[in-house]
Amino acid sequence: MFESLVKAPADPILGLADIYKADERVHKINLSVGVYKDENTVTPILNSVKKAESYLLENEQSKSYLPIEGLATFNLATQQLILGNDSPLIQDNRVKTAQAPGGTAALRIMADFLFNKTKTKRIWLSQPTWPNHRGVFHSAGLEVKEYRYYDPQNHNIAFDALLSDLENIPEGDAVLFHGCCHNPTGIDPTAEQWQQILAVATKKRWLPVFDLAYQGFGGGLEEDVVGVRLFANALPELLIASSYSKNFGLYNERVGALTLIAENADIADKAFSQVKTIIRTNYSNPPSHGGNIVAHILNNPELKEEWIAELTVMRQRIHRMRQLFVKTLQEKGTNQDFSFIVKQNGMFSFSGLTEEQVLTLRNDYGIYIVNSGRINVAGMTLDNMSLLCESIVKVLAL
Ligand code: PMP
Repeated sequence: MFESLVKAPADPILGLADIYKADERVHKINLSVGVYKDENTVTPILNSVKKAESYLLENEQSKSYLPIEGLATFNLATQQLILGNDSPLIQDNRVKTAQAPGGTAALRIMADFLFNKTKTKRIWLSQPTWPNHRGVFHSAGLEVKEYRYYDPQNHNIAFDALLSDLENIPEGDAVLFHGCCHNPTGIDPTAEQWQQILAVATKKRWLPVFDLAYQGFGGGLEEDVVGVRLFANALPELLIASSYSKNFGLYNERVGALTLIAENADIADKAFSQVKTIIRTNYSNPPSHGGNIVAHILNNPELKEEWIAELTVMRQRIHRMRQLFVKTLQEKGTNQDFSFIVKQNGMFSFSGLTEEQVLTLRNDYGIYIVNSGRINVAGMTLDNMSLLCESIVKVLAL
C-alpha cells in the first residue's frame, strides 16, 4: 500500500535547518528557523527555567497523568497573562484554557474544534502568514482562504486592502490574526487599527481567532496583547492559541495553550467539554514538564520577575540587532533604504530579498534565510554582522 506514496516536500523552515546543519562552511550564518539565539548564537535555557526545574526535581511527587485540559495552575496563569490578572472575563467564568503541547497543537485543537463542533467550515489567513497555518487548518478539514495584509512597496500593513477583504468575509467564517509580532512580516496593527478591525468583526459577525506565539517579544508582555484584550472584552466569543516556546525558551518541551472565551459561564462550560473530547481522542492529555515550569514561574512572584527580566534581555537584544543591521548595511554601501526593519516587531523581518537572492546567499555565502525573504533577526550577532551585511550588499548589487 505504501509503495504508491510520493515523497512529501521538506518543510520550508525546518527542512532548511537540516541543510544548514550539514553545511561545513565555518562562517555559515543561520537566519532561518524562528528560535531565539543569544550573542554567542546559543539558544539559552533561562535561569528562571533552570530554577523551576530544580524545584520540580526536588518536589515532584508523581508522574501520573494530568487531566485532559492540563494543570489548573498553568491554565489560570495563562489566562491572567493574556487577559490581565483582574480580567472580569476570568471572574465571570467565561474563560476556559487547555494546556497543549505547543502553540502548534493549540492551533490544531482550535481547528478541529471549529470544523467538528461548530458551523465554521472556512478560515481566513493573512497573506503572508506562518506557512504551517495553512497545513494545520487544512488538515483539520477547513477551507483555507487569504486576506491581504502586507504592502511590499511601503513595508507596511496594506490596511485599506485588509479592511476591504475583511468586509467581504461571510458571517460565521473564522479569521486568524497574529496577536503580536506578525510572522513573517514583523508588522502588527496599531491600537487604532485593531479598533477598526474589531468594528468590522462586530458588524460582519465573523469569528476572530488569535495566534499568540510571541507575547513579550514585541513591545512587552502587556503591550503585545492590546489587540487580543480589545477583542476579548468586546466580543462574546474568541479563541486564542498561545505558545510558551519563545518567551520561556521552552521550544522542545512543547508547551502552549488553547483559551476559549464564551458569552457566559454555561456556554463556556459546554463548549470546553467539546474541546476536551478533541484532546482526548488526539493525545489524551498534555505532557507535564513544560507546563509545570511555566506554572511554577508565573505563580512565584520572585521567579516571575526574573523571567520578565530575562525576556526583556531577549527583546532588547533583537532590537539592538535590528538597529545594527540597518546601520551596517548602510556602512557596507547599500543604496536601498532598510530603515523599515527597525520598526518591525519580534524576531522576524521581511527583508524584501527575492527568492533568487536568498538562494545565492545560501549557495555562495552560507547564509541561510527562508525562501520568502524572512530573516530571523535573533540569528544576528556582533560577530557575524559585518560578514552578513557585506554579503547581502554584494548580492543586492548583482
Ligand atoms: N504560530 C506562529 C506564528 C509561530 O511562529 C510558531 C512557531 N514558529 C507557532 C505558532 C508554533 O509554536 P510552537 O513551537 O509552540 O508549536
